[in-house]
Amino acid sequence: MKTDQLNRLNKRLRRKAGEAIADYGMIAEGDKIMVCLSGGKDSYTMLDLLLGLQRSAPVNFSLVAVNLDQKQPGFPEHVLPEYLDKLGVEYRIVEKDTYRIVKDRIPEGKTMCSLCSRLRRGTLYGTAQEIGATKIALGHHMDDLVETMFLNMFHGSRLKTMPPKLISDDKKNIVIRPLVYCRERDIARFAKERQYPIIPCTLCGSQPNLERVQIKKMLREWERESPNRVVSIFKSMQRVTRSHMLDTDLYDFAGLTIDRADELTELDIAFDPPQLGAVG
Ligand code: SF4
Repeated sequence: MKTDQLNRLNKRLRRKAGEAIADYGMIAEGDKIMVCLSGGKDSYTMLDLLLGLQRSAPVNFSLVAVNLDQKQPGFPEHVLPEYLDKLGVEYRIVEKDTYRIVKDRIPEGKTMCSLCSRLRRGTLYGTAQEIGATKIALGHHMDDLVETMFLNMFHGSRLKTMPPKLISDDKKNIVIRPLVYCRERDIARFAKERQYPIIPCTLCGSQPNLERVQIKKMLREWERESPNRVVSIFKSMQRVTRSHMLDTDLYDFAGLTIDRADELTELDIAFDPPQLGAVG
């Protein structure tokens, strides 16, 4: 990729992150953002974009990169500290052996990602409180959100995804996802050009989540036939018409009543005078 193409891609990603941040009120004056860095393409890109936005944003905020060393065998401990030292970003490496817990509890050959993610989330919430971070930034992008919605529909019979901004159940942490307007393919191209020192998540040896793999495949095929279908689906998640869905918790269907008062008044005006005149 030529330099001007890379610059354009960088600008586009940064603009989209800026729009998402503004639309959902993700960052406020004085925020301390804990940027969760896994060593994957998405989180490296997120850190890059937030650093760029920090220079141009109308509000002041600080960033602390946090990596959770989950003690997976072969985890290259030196990679992230070296990268972050070079970048001059404040960071914290949190060591927590969630790998052992997951291995002990999940039978061999089963997907470990769900328990692993839950344990990781707990540790990250604790770390955010410890370092005084007011927001926790995660690198999920548009494709992640659309896939998750289908996962929940197909395997949980629920219409829900990962929101752009979320408050934890105990109200002590707010999670933000600044990349929700960014497409995965753009992030992948950007990350490749930036030559980030990627650390694969699958070091743990977990089986891939087959359900997610199937949904990715389904969406890829749809987009082959109809480019940007993922964008259309994503936009539809932003425009929910509650009265045209079926959730009785979201809309009071039982309480619907008709109101014809205006109509009657209009009918009175429309029909009464000539009729009265004819009779008279
Ligand atoms: S691939 Fe491994 S490290 Fe990554 S979320 Fe799944 S279990 Fe955790």
